[in-house]
Amino acid sequence: MKTYWMYVSMRSFNEYDVHSVTMKRKQKDSLPEIYSTLYEHYGDLHWWPAKTPYEVIVGAILTQNTAWSNVEKAIEQFGDDISPERVRSMPIEELQQIIRPAGFYKQKSLYLKAITDWYASYNCDTEFVKGRTLSELRRELLKVHGVGNETADSILLYGFDLPTFVVDAYTMRLFNRFPVDAGENYLQVKEYCEALLPKDPLIYNRCHALIVMHCKDYCKKKPLCMGCPLEDRCKSSNQIKL
Ligand code: SF4
Repeated sequence: MKTYWMYVSMRSFNEYDVHSVTMKRKQKDSLPEIYSTLYEHYGDLHWWPAKTPYEVIVGAILTQNTAWSNVEKAIEQFGDDISPERVRSMPIEELQQIIRPAGFYKQKSLYLKAITDWYASYNCDTEFVKGRTLSELRRELLKVHGVGNETADSILLYGFDLPTFVVDAYTMRLFNRFPVDAGENYLQVKEYCEALLPKDPLIYNRCHALIVMHCKDYCKKKPLCMGCPLEDRCKSSNQIKL
């Protein structure tokens, strides 16, 4: 079987502190193994499906408490112009009608206005945003109406290519079943993942995308353990095999 490091090595091996990560792997941690197995099975998923950082921001708000297919319908309704200028100047009722397919549209219209104002405070300039430190940006985003940990990290990782790991309900489900002793709350699990993986947005991007894909394909609410690429190592596979 190919090793985790073969995949990581798509970037220069020397970019990473190999020694410290190898030492961490010797602890009882399974995340690198899960990552390499899922990468071998699914390949590079090239997330996030958006054309601009602003479209990532919009998607990260709209995907709260709804399926991605509903977000796609809402984004389609923007037509060719999904720009911060348009969202800022648009009457709230019009914005609500556009994003209605994503559900909770009244709340989300307020969230979209608020996050767009935040982006406008940087002149909607990606490089300007990236001039701040990751921790400063994260703190700022968490103060924006409607932005919690997962939304903030999704925006920073997928919109601005910054190294912050995204934890979601799929991550928690997989870790509980495998099991991976990563912690019990968002920040504990995020910290665990970041300690086990090279501090690289590309790796964080792929790892989160792979976990989501895997939980949609196999580790569903009612899991399909037969044929699951993690079946041999997952401690739950015998217990819940259908
Ligand atoms: S073996 Fe079953 S429970 Fe374990 S990861 Fe695969 S689908 Fe999920």
